[in-house]
Amino acid sequence: MIKVLFADLDDSLFQSREKCPEGVALQPAAFLKDGAAISYTTPSQRDFLELALTSMTVVPTTARNLNAFRRVDIPFCSYAVLDYGGVILHPDGSADTGWQQEMQAAMALSYAGLQRVMDVMNTYATSCGFGATARIIEDFGTPFYVVMKDPDKRSDRLAQIEQQAVATWIATEGSDFYIHRNGNNLAVLPKALNKAHAVQRVSQWLRAQHGEITTFGLGDSRSDARFMAACDYAIVPTGSQLSSSTLGAL
Ligand SMILES: [Mg+2]
Repeated sequence: MIKVLFADLDDSLFQSREKCPEGVALQPAAFLKDGAAISYTTPSQRDFLELALTSMTVVPTTARNLNAFRRVDIPFCSYAVLDYGGVILHPDGSADTGWQQEMQAAMALSYAGLQRVMDVMNTYATSCGFGATARIIEDFGTPFYVVMKDPDKRSDRLAQIEQQAVATWIATEGSDFYIHRNGNNLAVLPKALNKAHAVQRVSQWLRAQHGEITTFGLGDSRSDARFMAACDYAIVPTGSQLSSSTLGAL
């Protein structure tokens, strides 16, 4: 039976330098558009990756868009789930057109909501004097979700915007949307956009090709929990948001 690892990338397989422990040998794993290294692996992450890439079919399952995914220097060779599940790439790098059409139809219904919550977030941030701005993230010509980052990486400001502006909006007109917040990242996503949906589709394809498969889910964020829970096994990096709200809480 083939073993399939659906793997979140950022803060699961690598992270920015300030999140890396001191005194360990780091290697760059992801780069900015200008070629500068932005994310690094630790020795234990490289050990884990070596194990995964030699014994499993690894399916990156990430919020990254195509451009950002191409700046990850890890030799993946199977399917890839991008944009929180909005895009599925085949092993040859081409986007699945059937999935693309389904997602375009779903996202067209969400676009007015994305614009509205972006306005709500920007209006609130401006009224507080925060420098953060929300923007809609598009890929393959499709708008998928809204993201806001604080220029000073003040996660407490994002928490305030989430609680005072976004949560109220979701409780009233935004019931078809949900929040992902982790570190300096506040995102609002349509419920139709979820890594779990794309993981389910890729699992169906892999079962059709290989028969029964054993699935593993790796992720660091609460928003990864749903696709991980659909796998046979869940792998959670120690010290992550998901670890502190599950294993750490016990
Ligand atoms: Mg992550």
